[in-house]
Amino acid sequence: MTSPDTTPRGLAAYACDPAHSRGRRHAEPPAPTRSAFQRDRDRIVHSTAFRRLVYKTQVFLNHEGDLFRTRLTHSLEVAQLGRSMARALGLNEDLVEAIALAHDLGHTPFGHAGQDVLNECMAEHGGFEHNLQSLRVVDELEERYPAFNGLNLSFETREGILKHCSRRHAQRLSAGEPDGVAQRFLDNSRPSLEAQLCNLADEIAYNAHDIDDGVRSGLLSLSQLQELELVERYRHQTLSEYPALQGRRLLYETIRRMLSDQVYDVIDATRSAIAQAGVNSLEGVRAAPALVRFSERMHEQSRELKRFLFANLYRHPQVMQTTEQARHVVRDLFEAYVKRPQDMQIDFARRPDTHQAVADYIAGMTDRFAMREHERLTGRQVMA
Ligand code: MG
Repeated sequence: MTSPDTTPRGLAAYACDPAHSRGRRHAEPPAPTRSAFQRDRDRIVHSTAFRRLVYKTQVFLNHEGDLFRTRLTHSLEVAQLGRSMARALGLNEDLVEAIALAHDLGHTPFGHAGQDVLNECMAEHGGFEHNLQSLRVVDELEERYPAFNGLNLSFETREGILKHCSRRHAQRLSAGEPDGVAQRFLDNSRPSLEAQLCNLADEIAYNAHDIDDGVRSGLLSLSQLQELELVERYRHQTLSEYPALQGRRLLYETIRRMLSDQVYDVIDATRSAIAQAGVNSLEGVRAAPALVRFSERMHEQSRELKRFLFANLYRHPQVMQTTEQARHVVRDLFEAYVKRPQDMQIDFARRPDTHQAVADYIAGMTDRFAMREHERLTGRQVMA
């Protein structure tokens, strides 16, 4: 691999340069020793929402076992994968790290089950989308600074956090922030390569760690995984070098090789796409089609893996059962707080927009706090 065309600071011409950031919503003097994106990352690490990620479900509920991924360890893995690809591509590692660490801040307790129910509960009050909620957390909900709500992050970090957004929400956001982070969903332009990279790092991370957690939980078996071309290739490779290897170490080495290969695949395919599109600036990135990508072959195999995990893990009867219980917890909490807002913490209880306040309150909960609150308010204990 040849290294990309770089500016003196090691950034490619198409990278986000903190010196040319589109800035923060509330003007602040620059930090003396850190770039704007380093400062964003540091603010995220010190936030309350970030600490809560350790007690939020990725796939397996937090209390089901100590070794499963949580939203926190997932986010750290996304940051690790993102940074190593960013460095090879001459992209801004600090920005990638900031986006990766913040990308799941808006997730509800109990993973996707929680967000789906909250979306149903909020159907007549604007709905609920976790990407949008992540942005709400860093823009509005964190209370750390005397002069403003939120963390006052740079445009580029906020843009990366808002990964998806419906047209309806984009119009609403753009009304409050003209030409802001939601504009690209209205004029169909692309975010920075750093933001695009975090999306793919997210996918690579969860595909790999869900195999690991799936096998650890006993819900997936190693022999089941052999139907996947992608996994099978690295298992074969490993066994040809270490014929006696089996069990956990065989699984780890297979996943390790798969992760490395996917990282190198993205680096190669993305470099070619950038070269082919002739992109040599951030403006060029925004106007071009999405450039961070897998090769065609890896893309297909990654989709196959995703389909496999969906059918065999996310829809596993045992996962579905806890999912069903989680749905009840979130729905009961929502109904209870709407009826008696005073049962929420005082600053949520006092808000005039009751439904949105309830959604924000529930979305911020950890799994175990949600379960404790559910027991307190309904007298019933679920998922013990
Ligand atoms: Mg994620």
